[in-house]
Formats: sequence, C-alpha cells, structure tokens
Amino acid sequence: MTAEIKQQVQFKKEKLMKVSKKFRWEGAHRLPWHQGGCQSLHGHSYVLWVELEGEPDERGMLIDFKVIKKIISPLIESWDHATLIAKDDTKLKEAIALLNSKHFILPYDTTSENLCLYVAQYLLKKGFKNLSEHRIDRITVRLQETESCYAESSTVVSLEHPSSPESFDSKVVSL
Ligand SMILES: [Zn+2]
Repeated sequence: MTAEIKQQVQFKKEKLMKVSKKFRWEGAHRLPWHQGGCQSLHGHSYVLWVELEGEPDERGMLIDFKVIKKIISPLIESWDHATLIAKDDTKLKEAIALLNSKHFILPYDTTSENLCLYVAQYLLKKGFKNLSEHRIDRITVRLQETESCYAESSTVVSLEHPSSPESFDSKVVSL
C-alpha cells in the first residue's frame, strides 16, 4: 500500500462516526386492517435505537449520549404503558376513552415503519439545534417490536445553515 492510499484510508476513518442510544418501553396498538394477529389490540416491549452519524469535534466527540436521551425521553414517556392509536381508528379511540386509559394519537397507522418515521421527525423537530451544532448528517432509527423483528429508517439531513427550526422539513433529503 502506498503512502498516498494509506492517507486516504485514514482520512475516511476519521470522518465516519456513529453513536447509538437505546430506549425501551411497553406499549399497546393494533392494525385493524391487518390480516393476522396485529388486527387485535396487543402489546409489545418496544426497543428503539436512535443512531446519529456525523463528524466528531476536535476532542473526538460527536454528541453526548445524554443529549440524545434528553431529546427523546419525553416522547418515550408519553408512549410508555400507553395505547398508540392511529388518528382514523375511531373505534379504538372510543374504547380507550371509555376506559380513560393512557394513549397517544398518531397521524397514521401504528406500524413499526411509521413509528420509526415519527421518531426521526420528532428528533429533527425537538433536537434541531443540538443536531445542527454537532454537525449530524444522518439519523437512523431502528424499532424492534419483537425479539426477531425490526424496522429501520435512515434519513440524510442537511442542518448546517438552518434559517429557522421550523424549516426542518425542507432540510430532510430522504425520509
Ligand atoms: Zn404489534
């Protein structure tokens, strides 16, 4: 290997860094249109991994794990021991209202894939300033419903020159 190639390899290694933080909660949901077990109201011990990628600072830190925890924890607290309900699932809304039970309304069906997208959007909205300051350029969200199944979304973001925190939608390259 020539000196030039070695230099290139080292440069690439320095640029690539990921940090991941794990969250867990218990939640209920259903997919009324599903042709199988998910049609019934049921629960999961959800496991969520939030992974951030970017260039570490001169001290070698990309972003403090505590910062990720601070941004995401309020969402997890509102989902823990709650029933996640799609906004057009009126029957489930009525049933949960009758029970006066903790719940969270989502703008779409409560599939693992959609929950990944919701977490990514939440992270961008609530953590915009932090993600921008720490030069995060990719967000990966992995949601595990069971021991053997997970969904994952990977979002490339460009947060270097935000005009305002509300503009995050237009900064999302892929979601
Ligand atoms: Zn399920």
